[in-house]
Amino acid sequence: MPPGRPAPGVVRTPPMRARALGWTGQSIPIVGQGTWNMEQDDRKRAVAALQRGLDLGLSHIDTAELYGSGRVEELVAEAIGGSARRRDEIFLASKVVPSNASRDGTRQACERSLRRLRTDHLDLYMLHWPGSHPLAETIAALEALRAAGKVRFWGVSNFDVRELEAALRIAGETAIACNQVLYHLEQRSIEHRVLPFCSQHRIAVVGYSPFGSGDFPAPSSAGGRALAQVAARHGVSPRAVALSFLTRHDALFTIPKASSAGHVAENARGDVDLSAEDVDTIDGAFPRGKSGELPTL
Ligand code: NAP
Repeated sequence: MPPGRPAPGVVRTPPMRARALGWTGQSIPIVGQGTWNMEQDDRKRAVAALQRGLDLGLSHIDTAELYGSGRVEELVAEAIGGSARRRDEIFLASKVVPSNASRDGTRQACERSLRRLRTDHLDLYMLHWPGSHPLAETIAALEALRAAGKVRFWGVSNFDVRELEAALRIAGETAIACNQVLYHLEQRSIEHRVLPFCSQHRIAVVGYSPFGSGDFPAPSSAGGRALAQVAARHGVSPRAVALSFLTRHDALFTIPKASSAGHVAENARGDVDLSAEDVDTIDGAFPRGKSGELPTL
């Protein structure tokens, strides 16, 4: 076999750009794959789309016990089981719903997710949003899961700065791997406070709903035209430009959801190195807006 040539049957991962997930140092692709509402899609098509994403290097899969009441985790297991990727080449993330996030409830929820995902560990486990169980209990449970090897890293989701400060007071530095928050071109609130705070504490920011949950700027709109202009400079699509913009800082990752293999292939090109001029063009078309509370869906 000539050097550099993949062996038959071996999938060569294209160089999707990767970076360290905050203080963890774990390198993961800047563009991953979301799975919310996938239980509503054609199952075979959705499984094939996730597998295509894995082949293209989108090895960070984001799911949650909430999605389809566990059915999406089962679908993800099917995709991973039938993929050419080994489990240790995939960065698998799931979340506990706040109503389950008591000390013992978190442990039990994690066990259920592991069973549905047919794996013995999660790479990342998050509290889906702040809830009513004392945060100290949830964090104690997450730390216990980490110590037991069921979870490699843990994080939070939909936390504003005040909630992150509270979590840091309990857990200390280098404990919270990420904060998963709403972030797309028309919703850039995190750039005011959450992103700088997370960067300062080396907490990765995983942006969700990068395409506005299916509400992407129309090509005929001013924003759509600005994206097309930048896209033409790089020979990629407007959506690839959007993903590149949303991951332009070291702390940022994104997790578009796609149940179509074609969409996944397009998203896999979302790691373009944008110039200062490109960023200015997009900034002009999609202003950051006023600082405010952390938005959620
Ligand atoms: P999204 O990724 O912003 O948008 C998904 C929609 O965009 C789907 O309709 C998808 O269509 C379409 N799409 C994807 N790629 C496309 C392409 N290249 N061309 C045309 N259309 C394309 O929406 P999201 O699901 O809200 O967010 C992404 C993920 O973030 C979720 O799936 C979930 O994992 C996570 N999330 C987390 C939270 C939280 O509270 N932590 C909240 C919301 C979302 P097809 O499916 O037909 O391909």
